[in-house]
Amino acid sequence: MQDLTIIAATGTALPAPRQNRHYIAGAWVDSAGDTIDRLSPAHGVLVSRSADGTAADAEAAIAAARAAFDDGRWSRLSGRARAAVLLRVADLIEANVDDFALIETLETGKPISQARGEVAGAADLWRYAAALARTVQGDSHNALGEDMLAVVLKEPIGVVSIITPWNFPFWILGQKLPFALAAGCTCVVKPSEMTPSTTVMLCDLLAQAGLPAGVVNVVLGYGQTVGAVLTAHSQVDMVTFTGSTAVGKQITRTAGDTLKKVALELGGKNPQVIFPDADLASAADAVTFGTYFNAGQCCNAGSRIIVHEDIADDFVARVVALSRRVAFGDPLDPATQVGAIVTPEHAAKIDAAVQAAVAEGASVVLGGAALAVPGLGPQFYQPSVIRGVTPGMAIARDEVFGPVLTVLTFRTLDEAIALTNDATYGLSAGVWSENIHTCLAFARAAQAGTVWTNTWMDGFPEVTFGGMKQSGQGRELGRYGLEEFLEVKSLVMRV
Ligand code: NAD
Repeated sequence: MQDLTIIAATGTALPAPRQNRHYIAGAWVDSAGDTIDRLSPAHGVLVSRSADGTAADAEAAIAAARAAFDDGRWSRLSGRARAAVLLRVADLIEANVDDFALIETLETGKPISQARGEVAGAADLWRYAAALARTVQGDSHNALGEDMLAVVLKEPIGVVSIITPWNFPFWILGQKLPFALAAGCTCVVKPSEMTPSTTVMLCDLLAQAGLPAGVVNVVLGYGQTVGAVLTAHSQVDMVTFTGSTAVGKQITRTAGDTLKKVALELGGKNPQVIFPDADLASAADAVTFGTYFNAGQCCNAGSRIIVHEDIADDFVARVVALSRRVAFGDPLDPATQVGAIVTPEHAAKIDAAVQAAVAEGASVVLGGAALAVPGLGPQFYQPSVIRGVTPGMAIARDEVFGPVLTVLTFRTLDEAIALTNDATYGLSAGVWSENIHTCLAFARAAQAGTVWTNTWMDGFPEVTFGGMKQSGQGRELGRYGLEEFLEVKSLVMRV
């Protein structure tokens, strides 16, 4: 434990707490409800005090979005005009990266360098969605008979509820909101009650960029109150949700009553398969990054390692050596690579998963316990490597959402594919080999929305992302990211 790389508190002066209100019809609105305090997971200080929205707040936000959609102030603009606004938002985000990143770090506990990357990356999502706004187009049919003509239109689906989680609040908002706006939709956004601030801060930029009032509304609060209304309401046409599989299922049930469209980005338990002919140094680097990025609180955590048994000892030794060098501690230090765990309850859940694995017969090679960082709170979990794992153990099947890597072994390609697909999730998978035939055979057989080959977690706004099986439905990013928010209408004409 002593040889882990720990970064003590920087002692940086923290900003005064933010007061977050709802943003409805272009105005800041107080809630009749209570407030929700968010303490920095790393520092234990108050970062924000936010409205604890009521059902009435959610209904007011939906009414504002409905009115803005129906009068066409956004939905009937040209793609060119919508793109101009989205591009201005991208510029404004870029001009404010440091302010957004600081608050993102304080609310989530993630390292400041990664928060900066997240915010700058989100600006690029807005820029890409602006380009897509000019590509909305349908189809025509002119071979239906001499006097017949049909035109297939793509229209904005309407009012969209956007519900986001706490782990990448600003990035995940960027995977949804600008694409919905590019399509011409109006939106009600509910960020996680734990990390609402950057979503609230964005509202100022939307107004500065010239987005008409009512097109984007933000209502703060809990899932069971505000989220439930955004999911059930008859005036909402679509829900796009990122979060846990359990809540995704609940949302699908609730939304089913009004048969609104539901798009879901849910959990994962993502394997990385290492063949003996792989570049083991690169694979070990990627496995280490894929496990500890965002302290493992990442739907794309690539921490279910499936390694060929001939190289298992060598590979685990490499990963353990790299894990010891991961710098964890104060998220405000630019050198920190792994920050705090989001809540004490979640830190306890991570530890319970590790201890349950040990009780089932697995062994801890590294870490396996919480750790207090000098000058900071206790919400840190050591980079952890667990061996002796068998496919039936809970730790091999359930999302841990912490900096914990598990090792399974295989002998043949077929066995590696079977282990990969023996999962309720299907978000992403990785394969490491210098043999293109091995890689392609694996990639084609893997049940996963994304398969990375000799890399991990490279993402691009252009490349579609989403999950199979219980990792979700629908897709984000790329042109599918726009299509999700478009409805199809056929005009059939006798002419
Ligand atoms: P969560 O499901 O607990 O909460 C997500 C959001 O849903 C929050 O805003 C919450 O307030 C809201 N919510 C809760 N109950 C609700 C209800 N009944 N109706 C409507 N809304 C409700 O998830 P979390 O803990 O914030 O995030 C972690 C989870 O998100 C992990 O499972 C992770 O894998 C997943 N995730 C997936 C992706 C992806 O792209 N596939 C990305 C990031 C996170």
